[in-house]
Amino acid sequence: MKWYYECSECGKRYDIEPGRYLCDACARAQEADRPLRGILECRWDGQWDGPQDGVPLPVAREHFPALPVGDTPLWAPERLRAETGFQRLWLKDDTCEPSGSFKDRASLLVAAFARERGIREIALASTGNAASSMAAVGAAAGLRVTVFLPKKAPVAKRVQVLQYGAELREVDGTYDRAFDQSLAYSSASGVLSRNTAYNPLTIEGKKTASFEMAAQLGRALSPAAPAGYCQVPDHVFVPVGDGVILAGVYKGFEDLKRLGRIDRMPTVWACQAEGSSAIARALEAGAFQAPVPSDTVADSISVDVPRNGAHALGKLQKHGGRAVVVTDAEILAGQQELASGSGLFAEPSSAAAWAGFRKAAPGLDKNERVVVMVTGSGLKDIAGAMKGLGL
Ligand SMILES: *Cc1c(COP(=O)(O)O)cnc(C)c1O
Repeated sequence: MKWYYECSECGKRYDIEPGRYLCDACARAQEADRPLRGILECRWDGQWDGPQDGVPLPVAREHFPALPVGDTPLWAPERLRAETGFQRLWLKDDTCEPSGSFKDRASLLVAAFARERGIREIALASTGNAASSMAAVGAAAGLRVTVFLPKKAPVAKRVQVLQYGAELREVDGTYDRAFDQSLAYSSASGVLSRNTAYNPLTIEGKKTASFEMAAQLGRALSPAAPAGYCQVPDHVFVPVGDGVILAGVYKGFEDLKRLGRIDRMPTVWACQAEGSSAIARALEAGAFQAPVPSDTVADSISVDVPRNGAHALGKLQKHGGRAVVVTDAEILAGQQELASGSGLFAEPSSAAAWAGFRKAAPGLDKNERVVVMVTGSGLKDIAGAMKGLGL
């Protein structure tokens, strides 16, 4: 069994090597202020020869740092089920990842790859969660981590970075600026970049959530079935900024289908904030337009240019995905509804997925299986939550 990268645009193959991030040919067509061109996807040749019910990944398990990432609960919020009438509603709860967000799934795979290849340092740009996540996983793995973070990132995320012992470079400007600065740093110094979308392993690492969801749904719906039995949700609601979680979730279901463990794809909903909705607008228009400066209370999904936009749009178009856009008021109301109705306190980005489900719900059949992905803990952005409370 051999792993390789394949260009999501032209299909060209590349070896999985440090320093290989995008497809050379397609990246030449990159325009300023547009999503990245030439995004690479991980693929393998031949039969998956790992455990029957395992997740195929391009790095051997022995290199994974000993931090308990993934295997997060999929649980049924009984009161929200009663309130909404959706009796098959679940929350995929990544607030209980070690650093408090879904980003740990990507950081774990990047750190494992660094250890496999003898790389000692990782650099990245972040709105906050990727930085705190990479810092945590780097601490577990014994890797040096340098993060480029906008000055206005929520304080809890900055404090996490420092507590985990990473080097913090504060950027005067937006995440988009931090992205460029971190790329300049990693290409000049030769350290591994964990920039989301740019490093293909960030997409691949996130697919683990779909493998878990399918097996957890299998257990929930068919308790007597053998271990590893999978079921597909009808709808998955995903908060979307750069579109890497979205693409990772799709990749997981695509792999499951290829492995014969599921027989259809779910409808994936890209949930975006009104003030940062480039992917939803592109799905409607058929292409990306000039960027609009982002402005939303949901900092983790606030991007001017969605780095994985082209790739994510392609997945939505291919699989009949949908988009739903919610206002900041709906996000903040959704945050409280989720917290007070289920006991799960999520950060505003994740509340956008909940609010997106609420907005789409009138068009759905109440017997359908719905999973809302709750990607980050509310404790990571207290200032955002205070706005919702009028404090
Ligand atoms: C990064 C992040 C998102 C959005 O993921 P993208 O890949 O940027 O679309 C959603 N929720 C949380 C908590 C995040 O940290």
